[in-house]
Amino acid sequence: MNIILLGAPGAGKGTQATKIADKYALPHISTGDIFRENIKNQTEIGLLAKSFIDKGQLVPDEVTCKIVEERISRADCKDGYMLDGFPRTIAQAEALEKITKIDLVINIDVDFSLLMERLCGRRVCKDCGESYHVSRLNGTTTCARCGGELYQRKDDNPETVQSRLDVYNAQTAPLIAYYTEKGNIFNVISDTRPPEAVFEKIVEKLDTLRK
Ligand code: ADP
Ligand code: ZN
Repeated sequence: MNIILLGAPGAGKGTQATKIADKYALPHISTGDIFRENIKNQTEIGLLAKSFIDKGQLVPDEVTCKIVEERISRADCKDGYMLDGFPRTIAQAEALEKITKIDLVINIDVDFSLLMERLCGRRVCKDCGESYHVSRLNGTTTCARCGGELYQRKDDNPETVQSRLDVYNAQTAPLIAYYTEKGNIFNVISDTRPPEAVFEKIVEKLDTLRK
């Protein structure tokens, strides 16, 4: 199964992606994680990506598409994979279509007014990537799952978040109509539901597809 996870920043793509990858043994490919890894290792791609990410802008399509193309051509992707955060533009979707077949696009739909507060209060585990909200941490600075140190992403500040949300509206949201037209989109609402309930809906859908 080749799956795409679509959703605004803060919609909970990463959380769902981790759960799906675990349950269905699919490689979890997050372009954001790939860029952050490159930034950490100070690679050429990392240096370039950083200049865009820090401003809340998209890394150019050409660079991003090349990375994804290389990643999904690896052996571990031959029985399927899950893309988290890619595609984010129509041009990326078109490039992807040329090299692979997508079975399902899961769109996580969330009330926009929740996102600023969610993202600015987000703390992430530097070891396992688990997300927390500062309001529920009671001052804890380590990950409940693995004990790793929690940190705040540099792009989780009000100005950068605003620009990420604007970019989402202008460039990524049109993908919902794009995939709706193709007929392989599944919309799931996450607003009032806990992540586990969202995951249940996704599992129901994926299990019908596998039959
Ligand atoms: P979020 O979904 O919370 O914005 P990600 O970790 O998916 O976080 O992405 C972080 C940043 O990495 C984005 O704001 C963007 O600059 C860059 N990025 C990630 N995926 C893509 C992509 N498909 N195309 C261009 N830039 C991307
Ligand atoms: Zn952790």
